[in-house]
Amino acid sequence: MNQVMIITGGSRGIGAATARLAATRGYAVCVNYRQDHVAADRVVADLRAAGARAIAVAADVAVEADIVRLFATVDREFGPVSALVNNAGILGTMNRVETADLARLQQIYATNVFGTILCAREAIRRMSLRHGGRGGAIVNLSSGAARSGAPGQYIDYASSKGAIDTFTVGLAREVGADGIRVNAVRPGFIRTEIHDSTGEPNRLERLKGLVPMKRAGEASEVATSILWLCSDEASYTSGAIIDVGGGK
Ligand code: NAP
Repeated sequence: MNQVMIITGGSRGIGAATARLAATRGYAVCVNYRQDHVAADRVVADLRAAGARAIAVAADVAVEADIVRLFATVDREFGPVSALVNNAGILGTMNRVETADLARLQQIYATNVFGTILCAREAIRRMSLRHGGRGGAIVNLSSGAARSGAPGQYIDYASSKGAIDTFTVGLAREVGADGIRVNAVRPGFIRTEIHDSTGEPNRLERLKGLVPMKRAGEASEVATSILWLCSDEASYTSGAIIDVGGGK
């Protein structure tokens, strides 16, 4: 079967680590990104050097027309998607709810929640046995913040990830008979550039003491769980949310 993976936000961090691992597992990989084409091109060059088929597609997952174009581009280049990793997500500066700002809320929810749901819609239209597809797997990126609520830091982000957990469970049940498995990975504190957006220098140094394993995780340690959930080894796993947080 032609294995085609779309990774939203695949140019950096967890998405880039997932792209690199997918290339070694025989997937044709679409690296989606929003603006940093240099980073995306670098990942694609590495994937091709490893012998994989790979493309970079700029598309803002907060914009529906961009999502539709992203999936149509992959149809044309590789054929229909068989694995979707809904990874693109934004965090933003730390804040408290008494300073909540509508524009920020709209951006976080449009990217983290609406983007995930609309990308899933496009994938289901292609994967579903009901629509003549051959099945597939969807993995959503949640966050340990969905469980903690992230008080005093970013409850807005945490609640967007809570929505991802609920979406994952509901969608797994909705499309289970259509040949599509839906799961989520809930990372803890992972060493990526997302923490730069919080405005706190050396944030992971402070937070690692809260982790039972006393260290931040690496993006590659999240990627292995994502690839497992996409694989046939996880053939009876759907609606699961896997914590990758060093025991936290
Ligand atoms: P990251 O290093 O900041 O990378 C984010 C990626 O998403 C980049 O490729 C970025 O592309 C892309 N992106 C951002 N907004 C986008 C949009 N609107 N449309 C398309 N692409 C967009 O992030 P990360 O730490 O790897 O996080 C990946 C996922 O894991 C996120 O959903 C995050 O919430 C979740 N997570 C991360 C951690 C952690 O500790 N790192 C913990 C829990 C959950 P550009 O550079 O082009 O904008």
